[in-house]
Amino acid sequence: MSLVERVQGLMNQAHADLSELVAIPSVADPRQYPPEECLKAANWVVDRFAQVGFTNIGLHETIDGSKAVYGERLTAGPDAPTVLLYAHYDVQPPLDDKAWHTPPFQLTEVNGRWYGRGAADCKGNIVMHLTALRALGDDLAVNLKLIVEGSEEQGTGGLEDFVEKNPELLRADAILVCDTGNAAVGVPAATITLRGMVNVVVTAEALTGELHSGMFGGPAPDGLAALIQVLSTLRDAAGNTTITGLEHDQTWHGAPYPPDQFRSDASLVDGAGLLGDGTVSDMLWARPAITVLGIDCPPVVGSAAAIQPRARARLNLRVPPGTDAVKAQDALIAHLQAAAPWGVRVRVETEAIGQPFEARTGGPAYRALSAAMLEAFGREMTTLGQGGSIPLCNVFAATYPDAEIILMGVEEPLALIHAPNESVDPGEIARLALAEARFLQRYRT
Ligand SMILES: [Zn+2]
Repeated sequence: MSLVERVQGLMNQAHADLSELVAIPSVADPRQYPPEECLKAANWVVDRFAQVGFTNIGLHETIDGSKAVYGERLTAGPDAPTVLLYAHYDVQPPLDDKAWHTPPFQLTEVNGRWYGRGAADCKGNIVMHLTALRALGDDLAVNLKLIVEGSEEQGTGGLEDFVEKNPELLRADAILVCDTGNAAVGVPAATITLRGMVNVVVTAEALTGELHSGMFGGPAPDGLAALIQVLSTLRDAAGNTTITGLEHDQTWHGAPYPPDQFRSDASLVDGAGLLGDGTVSDMLWARPAITVLGIDCPPVVGSAAAIQPRARARLNLRVPPGTDAVKAQDALIAHLQAAAPWGVRVRVETEAIGQPFEARTGGPAYRALSAAMLEAFGREMTTLGQGGSIPLCNVFAATYPDAEIILMGVEEPLALIHAPNESVDPGEIARLALAEARFLQRYRT
């Protein structure tokens, strides 16, 4: 039987597995779901990967209290390359229960897609790994390691810390971070860049206390007006993010993000235009982007005829690959201070920072993956960026500078990950499992 036929023959089992796994509400927040659910999901993963030959497999508690599953299948000998397979078994909460058309924790087929929380992110990728490994059987010339974490959606950094403390355990030549997706159903893609981020809080202070706007308004400096002026300098008329000293004319060289698809994905109101003078993919994946996350000032109801002595805003800057996040933070702080009007005091506090990520794509693992994707999908693999960050990728890159890091998976745009009515296309599981299996057969360093 060919590998394609073996994968096809395993899809009933993939459905059964995903049904069992989706039925476990493994939200890693004890305030929302009992921790036993996460434990159940972790043990399910241990059990299933033990069935496909993983040994030394079990749970490792991480610093945030979550448990990561680690296992290995080191049967190919010390000269063969080692591949680390990654996924996570925790899921986002269902959010608005009423917005779901099917029960969130019951895998339900509608028009050929399988619906349920985690069906794609990331339990679909766990089942993809399993299907690839079952199809391969013993026909495997690489060593395998497996890490399936239990708190990815919480952002509490359990696995990041675990990697730093256990570098030898997870060391590999290629790392398949399977928690992203294709450009569209049937269009194979690797995600090769992730934006970094900087969060700061900026305060503008002009007076020592409130003043009556009738008695003082005019000559008296206004803290809120000063903040508005400062914030307005962060974008130009076209909507480009314009921070002094920070490049904002980069271009994206991978697959484009069609503007109509973006308009619909982002649910723009009628008449609203897209920002910036680059393409959607330039603006989203190649250039910096500033967002005002919040402003402290009097709310409309309860506000009085008073000049505000001070106001503050929380800002989020997305940092594109190729730009150092520390330099971007320095530029943002200098820009905010230089933009202070009327001699008002502008103070900036730093809050959080994360570097962007860019995969090295020229190595043997990427070549093997491209060939495997072409064979499984019948078309060339494209490359995507992702606007958000996956801090774990930076930890992998820093800990294993020679490893090739590959981001892929079953989470294409229709999967609606993190939203109500998440789903997975079983065809994506089948094609990606086939691509993964071919990759594992062919990859040589
Ligand atoms: Zn995920």
